Amino acid sequence: MKYISTRGRAEKTGATRAIIKGIAEDRGLYVPEGFPRLKESWTELASLEYKEVAQLVLSCFLPDFTQEELAEYTGKAYGETFEHPRVAPLVRAGNVHFLELYHGKTAAFKDMALSLLPYLLTASIRKEKEDKKIAILAATSGDTGIAALKGFEDVPGTEVIVFFPEEGVSPVQKQQMRTAEGSNTHVAGIEGNFDDAQRGVKQILNDENFAAEALAKGYKLTAANSINIGRLLPQVAYYVWAYARMVESGAVKAGDPVNLVVPSGNFGNLLSGYYAEKMGVPVRRYLCASNRNNVLSDFFRTGVYDARRPLYTTNAPSMDIIVSSNLERLLYDLSGEDGAAVDAWMQALQNEQRYQVGGKTKEGLNRFYGGFATEEEIEAAIGSFYREQGYLMDTHTAAAYKVYQDYLAETGDDTPAVITATASPYKFAGSVSRALGLPVAEDEFSAILQLAEKTGVPVPAGLQNLKERPVRHTRTVAPEAMSDTVMHTLK
Ligand SMILES: *Cc1c(COP(=O)(O)O)cnc(C)c1O
Repeated sequence: MKYISTRGRAEKTGATRAIIKGIAEDRGLYVPEGFPRLKESWTELASLEYKEVAQLVLSCFLPDFTQEELAEYTGKAYGETFEHPRVAPLVRAGNVHFLELYHGKTAAFKDMALSLLPYLLTASIRKEKEDKKIAILAATSGDTGIAALKGFEDVPGTEVIVFFPEEGVSPVQKQQMRTAEGSNTHVAGIEGNFDDAQRGVKQILNDENFAAEALAKGYKLTAANSINIGRLLPQVAYYVWAYARMVESGAVKAGDPVNLVVPSGNFGNLLSGYYAEKMGVPVRRYLCASNRNNVLSDFFRTGVYDARRPLYTTNAPSMDIIVSSNLERLLYDLSGEDGAAVDAWMQALQNEQRYQVGGKTKEGLNRFYGGFATEEEIEAAIGSFYREQGYLMDTHTAAAYKVYQDYLAETGDDTPAVITATASPYKFAGSVSRALGLPVAEDEFSAILQLAEKTGVPVPAGLQNLKERPVRHTRTVAPEAMSDTVMHTLK
C-alpha cells in the first residue's frame, strides 16, 4: 500500500513517510493508492470492540506497522481516554441515529483521530530512523487545535504549534486552548479568520527555505490538520463501526444502504465516510451540511466552487471555513485520479478564488446532497428536538439534523440515516442554552452549569472547571507573522 499525491506529480511513498510529511512536494494531498475491501462479515464485525474495528481498518492501510503495534496504539488511543465505554455510541432519537463522536478528552470528534495520530507519527519517525524532532503545526477553527494539543502533550521529540482565529472560536474552545498543558505546546491567536490560519500553515509547509532553516535547528515540519492522511484513516473506522451497530440493532439488514449525514467544514469527516464505502460500508447518499458559510452546499448543487464570499462567524464555528481542503481528495477520486485536472482546479482556486468541474466529476457529485442551516435554524432545531425527543444536540450536529429534515422533505428518501454528532453540546453552551430558552448566563462557563442543571446530561470531564484552570498561552499575532512565530518557537 503506497500513497499518491492528488496533484499527480510527487513520487509514491509509504504510509510512514506520508504521515511524517503531511503534504506532498507537489502541494497535493496524499491518498491511498487503493481501498482494500473488508473480508469479515457484518456479524463478525458487529462482535468487535471499537479498538478492534480501528485496528482492522488501519491494518488495511498501514502495512508498515505490525498487528502488535496497531493493537497497542488503538488500545491506548481508545481506552480510558474515552469517557464512554463503547467509545462512540450510536444513539437512536426521533427518525435518525446519532453516532456520538465526542466522548474523548476534548469533547469533539477530532479526538477520534488525534488520540491515535501521536502513536502513528512517533512510530513513523522511529521506523524511518528520523533523527530530527518533529514540529506539528495546526490551523484550527477550534476543535483540531485543542485535540492536537491534548494528543501530543509531552510526547517526546515533538513540539505542537497551534494557530486559531482570535475572534472565530467559542469561548469554551478558546479557554481550552489557552489553558493547554504540556511543556511542548504552543498556542497563538491570529488576527484573522480560519482560512488565513490554514493558508499560513500550508504556506509554511510548502516553503523550502523555511524547511531548510527549521532543519538546521533540528526540526522537520508536519501538519496535524486533516490534510495529513494520518488524520483521515482513523476516521474511516467509525463508519465501519457505526454500520456494524446499525446491523446489530436491526436498523438495517446487512448489505442494505444507509445515508450518512455529516456537518462539514474541511470535509475530512465526510471524506472518511466515502472511503469507508470503498471498503464495503453500504451507503446510498452523502448529506453534506454547512452553516451560513455554505460554499460546500453550493458546490454540490452546481459544480462551481466559489470562494469569493465573506466568511461569517457563526454559532457553529468549527464549520466557519471557505476553503475546504479535503474536497481535493474527493475530486481526485471522482475525476478518475486525474492529477492534472485537480492541479488546474486548485491553481484556479488560488488565483481566481473559483473553479468549476464538469464531466464525470460533476456527475459524481450527484451522490452528494448539500444543504445548510442558518444560526436561527440551528437554534430552532436544538430547541424543538430537545423538547420532542429529549435529545441534546450541539450546534454543528443540529445543522446536520436540519439539513437531513430538508432532504427528507425534498426527496422522500427514508433510507436509515446516521448523523455524526461531532461535539458535546457543552462546548457551545451559550447557544445551546439560548436554544432551550434558558436565561442568558453571565458567561459560557455559567451556561455549562445551567445547561447541566436543566438537562441532567453529564458535563464531559474535559470541560469541567475550565474557568479555574491557569491560562498559559496569551499570544496574538498577525497572519503575516505566523512563520516567524514558528521559527522562534523552534529552539
Ligand atoms: C471539525 C469539526 C467539524 C467539521 O469537520 P470536517 O472534517 O472539517 O469537515 C464539524 N463539527 C465539529 C464540532 C468539528 O469540530
